[in-house]
Amino acid sequence: MKVFKPCCLLIAFVFLMNAVPAEAQNDYRSLHQSALVVDMHADVLLRLLHGVDISKRTATGQVDLVRMKEGGVDVQFFAVWPNPHKFLPDSMYEQSMYMIDELEKLIRSNPDKIMSARSVKDIQEAQRNNQIAAFIGVEGGTAIENSLEKLQVLYDRGVRYISLTWNDSNDWASSAMDETNPKYTGHKGLTEFGRQVIRRMNELGMMVDVSHSGEQTFRDVIETSSKPVIASHSCAWALASHFRNLKDEQLKALAKNGGVVFLNFYPGFLDVEFDKAYQALRKAAKPHLDSLKVKYGAETGKYFSERAAYLKSKTDPIQPDIEVLFKHMDYIVNLVGEDHVGLGSDFDGISIAPKGIEDIGQMPEITRVMLEHGYSESRIRKILGGNFMRVFRAVTNDR
Ligand SMILES: [Zn+2]
Repeated sequence: MKVFKPCCLLIAFVFLMNAVPAEAQNDYRSLHQSALVVDMHADVLLRLLHGVDISKRTATGQVDLVRMKEGGVDVQFFAVWPNPHKFLPDSMYEQSMYMIDELEKLIRSNPDKIMSARSVKDIQEAQRNNQIAAFIGVEGGTAIENSLEKLQVLYDRGVRYISLTWNDSNDWASSAMDETNPKYTGHKGLTEFGRQVIRRMNELGMMVDVSHSGEQTFRDVIETSSKPVIASHSCAWALASHFRNLKDEQLKALAKNGGVVFLNFYPGFLDVEFDKAYQALRKAAKPHLDSLKVKYGAETGKYFSERAAYLKSKTDPIQPDIEVLFKHMDYIVNLVGEDHVGLGSDFDGISIAPKGIEDIGQMPEITRVMLEHGYSESRIRKILGGNFMRVFRAVTNDR
């Protein structure tokens, strides 16, 4: 006889509560709101650092707590990005700590809207209390400053994934940008210490993120990790041959490992033709944007707002729509199955998103598009959050 543990009964209860009546199956909003929706990567903390109050609806940017709620987002991974272009006195580790402090302040000030989450149990608690479950992902292994002790501190502060690199390589892992740069002369892949980092992350129950990692680093990670691996914000290279995307062989390796690729919404990673046109447009716009920077000086909020409006006016004619995101999703589903894809918007880290999904409040549109293309309810639930839960449980041994 099978004996169900209390936590299994709770999961079954939550599942039943989430079931959508047959007559409402075509109602994408009710399906979306009842599903667990996970966004694996957003850079909104950068706006917080610029003094923007994201607890209220904001006219600029792509994420705030109000729009997260409207978008039906249940689990949000907040990216902590130690900026390699920022100079002393803050080290990469200290920058990361500071960003975590800022997220904690936001959570403390908005206990009705958001809670700090580290486990499956926390997600369930946030669901019961109608709060957003806030997780931390560190974007860049530079944050650990070559120290397993600092890795431990980050884990203790709630970090549940680390992207091994950002665009810059570090002492123990090489990035996709560097590995694809013919002038790069540093090491490629993981060093022995890099492998130790992966093994320690596996032991701690921290997800290993290969978004931004080079192909050699990716191969070394797959060989080393005993747990499923994620790509928190990347797309399919076969549809858009950008170094930030994953080739078919990588997607297959990730699926074999039990992992998930969470799709980035940036049109430049979804459509290479857009990317070329956008880069040219930005180059042409640079003198005007530079003059705006001088005009506003320390008033960075005004600068970002006018910059965004100016770029929007220029990009509108070439901006792809939400179907381009679906194409990548569907390509991956056809290549490796529905268990290995999810959403990692990169909102507030990207200057533009496809029409129809331009901020986090529009997340239900993804569910609408999936339904329109004939995806089943169970597949949609996996892509919105179920696939994340499977990997998270496997990595954290949390049932
Ligand atoms: Zn990134």
